[in-house]
Amino acid sequence: MKNITVIGTGYVGLVTGTCFADLGNRVVCVDIDEQKIETLRTGGVPIYEPGLTDVVRRNVAADRLHFTTSYEEGLREAEFVFIAVGTPSGVDGEADLQYVRMAAETIAETMTHPLIIINKSTVPVGTGDWVADIIALHQQEPIPFSVVSCPEFLREGSAIGDFMNPDRVVLGSLDREAAEKVAQLHLPLRAPIVLTDLRTAEMIKYASNAFLATRISFINEIAAICERLGADVKEVAAGMGYDKRIGRSFLDAGVGFGGSCFPKDVKALEYMGLLHGAHPALLRAVMDINRDQRRQVVHKLRDALGSLSGRKIGLLGLAFKPNTDDMRDAPSVEIAGMLQHDGAEVWGYDPVAHPVAERVMPDVMLADSPYDLAVGSDALVLLTEWNEFKHLDLERIREAMRMPIIVDGRNVYEPPAMREAGFVYLGIGRGYSSDSGVSAKPRAFAAQERE
Ligand code: NAD
Repeated sequence: MKNITVIGTGYVGLVTGTCFADLGNRVVCVDIDEQKIETLRTGGVPIYEPGLTDVVRRNVAADRLHFTTSYEEGLREAEFVFIAVGTPSGVDGEADLQYVRMAAETIAETMTHPLIIINKSTVPVGTGDWVADIIALHQQEPIPFSVVSCPEFLREGSAIGDFMNPDRVVLGSLDREAAEKVAQLHLPLRAPIVLTDLRTAEMIKYASNAFLATRISFINEIAAICERLGADVKEVAAGMGYDKRIGRSFLDAGVGFGGSCFPKDVKALEYMGLLHGAHPALLRAVMDINRDQRRQVVHKLRDALGSLSGRKIGLLGLAFKPNTDDMRDAPSVEIAGMLQHDGAEVWGYDPVAHPVAERVMPDVMLADSPYDLAVGSDALVLLTEWNEFKHLDLERIREAMRMPIIVDGRNVYEPPAMREAGFVYLGIGRGYSSDSGVSAKPRAFAAQERE
């Protein structure tokens, strides 16, 4: 059993703290958000993450998991201190490090004994060194400490499983002994451990997220070409995926990536590159394509409906992906704004994100079910591939709609079945269709026939 403190009790901090407690450690989670800590102390869990509530309650009951707003209380027994505060995008795309700075300063001012300080937040290359400088500068008296980078790779929606069964644990430090102590903490996870220096560890996180985002933008670009040439991107991706060098993951065309990580991390990496004289053209293209995917939804609706003014458009799914209530940089937020700008009346439905939606999109009306959403709609736009949308009673939906138009932003449905069910079906890169207005004959061949 080790004494672990986690600073920042959000998606990453709460899952990290809870899972370390479940592995038998004594964990204190610290947050400056009093309401969040109060919710946790009274048995609630402030975020939606499958399975999390049960594991939190189990470890609180076993007296292994504690919550506080006090750094003194949090650090009193600590040997390991994880920093898991937010690092949102700043004005030019650079990572905003104000929360990391505040956490490091407060740790320095509060610590009374040696600590291993582990950075779990996604931070620009060089931040570990900067954190070490801040701590040295703000200590009341010199107390030994080490800084280790341990970037987190969990995905919201499967966070506990991802934490407990990681593909690898990356640990970076200039202090080998400290890194090895942190490696010991992770041994029960039975994952490969990559021991490296601080800066390389920080870069592994950005490079991994940027690569996954690149795969999504790549397949979205292929989808745009498929759409014009009459190929089906879903089958193209499946055909590509059998190649072991390529694999199947992150090749789903759609409205693009969102959430609190990919967009901000790609932008932050581009910013870091630019700042230091590199030319991150690929990263810029990844973001350009992603922005365009969201606009394409609106273009498809304009093509199908003409003016959107006064049209009732229903958004199926508001969270940035299934199994989470997180709406940070969710495609739904931007798409709703574009549709409203065109004069549409926008409605939404999500199985879990309504409390968040009420806060972040107060002008969007919320329906009680997909069927309520369909009533009187001129089009439905599927933005989050929640399981419950995969087996809807399509006849009931079509009968309730004013116009039977579906834009399938996640390619959940099959075009022939949807057309058979009486819908005007508009997927992303799903080949030609008489409904989508795309010519059945690729233009290159049509031109040759004319010659
Ligand atoms: P979050 O916004 O959900 O949580 C951050 C928490 O830190 C908040 O509860 C906030 O109140 C708290 N906080 C801010 N300043 C503090 C301070 N000085 N002291 C104590 N608490 C403080 O963020 P998140 O989604 O958990 O992300 C945290 C970090 O992990 C980010 O760098 C993110 O990029 C990275 N990350 C996130 C995910 C993910 O899926 N969310 C996955 C991997 C990595």
